[in-house]
Amino acid sequence: MNRRDLLAADPARTPLLAVGNQVGEIARDLVPGGVLIGHDDRLDLAVAETRERIADGRRAPLFEATFVHEDVLVRVDLLLPEADGGWRICEVKSAASVKPYHLGDLASQVWVALGAGLPVSAAELAHIDTRFSYTRAGDYAGLLRTVDVSERVAPLVNRRHLVVTAARQCLAGGEPEIATGGQCATPYPCPFQGHCRAGEPPVADYPPELLPGAAGKTAAEALRQAGIADLRDAPPELALPPALDRILTATRTGVAFHDPAGFRAAVADWPSPLRFLDFETVGFAIPRWLGTRPFEAVPFQFSCHLAAEDGTYPQTEFLDLTGADPSRACAEALVDCLGETGAIVAWAAGVERACIRRLARLFPDLAPRLTAAADRVVDLLPVVRNTYYHRDMRGSWSIKAVLPCRLPALKYSDLQGVNDGMAAPNAYQEAIHPDTDPRRREALRAELLAYCRLDSWAMVALCDSLGRDDDPQG
Ligand code: SF4
Repeated sequence: MNRRDLLAADPARTPLLAVGNQVGEIARDLVPGGVLIGHDDRLDLAVAETRERIADGRRAPLFEATFVHEDVLVRVDLLLPEADGGWRICEVKSAASVKPYHLGDLASQVWVALGAGLPVSAAELAHIDTRFSYTRAGDYAGLLRTVDVSERVAPLVNRRHLVVTAARQCLAGGEPEIATGGQCATPYPCPFQGHCRAGEPPVADYPPELLPGAAGKTAAEALRQAGIADLRDAPPELALPPALDRILTATRTGVAFHDPAGFRAAVADWPSPLRFLDFETVGFAIPRWLGTRPFEAVPFQFSCHLAAEDGTYPQTEFLDLTGADPSRACAEALVDCLGETGAIVAWAAGVERACIRRLARLFPDLAPRLTAAADRVVDLLPVVRNTYYHRDMRGSWSIKAVLPCRLPALKYSDLQGVNDGMAAPNAYQEAIHPDTDPRRREALRAELLAYCRLDSWAMVALCDSLGRDDDPQG
């Protein structure tokens, strides 16, 4: 690899790698009689032991079987003996489905194993089956779904030598000159991005690709073809649908689009008292609590601000860091806080509605009140999308994009630690881990509370601000 010195550990990948390891262990547990090829720090020994175990004729399943061919080394998650005398290669993934890039990984394994002389009968991927329900402690039979992808992998295997040759040429030469692009972020963010982008000309402040949606993509492609790299340089006669035209005008002029009358009209029939509700959820690839499914969004925290008659906004908050299933405690706290009348305002409200309905399904004694609460949820996001745009939102109506543009004093970036949607479930998982130091746990508690409080307060502040005629942007 060129420029290994630029590689730094990516903390965001750490939880993903840990889940991958756990899924791998579960996959092994589900294969009786398997033998683990160890030697993680002496791969030459791993290769030798693999060779011996295959030659000994016992045909036991092997975990982490290790092969080398033309200096390419692979470790196979599961190597399973087949009745025809061959072996089935199974790659285990912690994803919810087979992704195209999984096939390339698997093709490399098959190419190396074949080259090392192994008769490979089949190639398959095992991924997490989202239909699995965790009903018995420690029993993960059914968590993984295996898919035979032998036919899809075969053409890739036939071309693998070309990939290997290209990789060798790349390694033998200097740093390759490749422009950054979609490959830098998909399927995973490339750790070299800072380095590669530093050598490129600066990107425009407002590139056409900021235009959202399918119509925005089409318009952006047309602008690019016309040689326009910044929305501010788009020709005045350019005809766009009204939603995109607002964005273009706000970007070109630097004056935010704001329709306070439209905002007031859209929220006028939301019944009082308004409550502003935000959940934080966690979705474990490997279900942790009985009755849950892989990746099921389980709320562990909420914050709710009530617009009281006296003009104050009392807040209720809930956060369970015990590590036990937070669902019952969350449902009870919600019933206490949401009352029986008034609209419940949420941002991209589908999440809040789904969380409340899930709790209603789980707890029949609370179901009537929770179901009624779910029916009172209204969505602030489409109202804001239709009535406000500032060019620094850069094509996004995430509340984190809108808030600092409309109300610069309220910023997520001012929060310590947890300040985005992915950080919250990661912080929660760290906080409930038994090895986490109690002081660290309390620090995470404070960060999570501050983050969720800002999410619900941001809706209060935006509702107040966007309904007013005066514009902080001037
Ligand atoms: S940042 Fe993009 S261009 Fe640079 S090495 Fe990574 S994928 Fe390649």
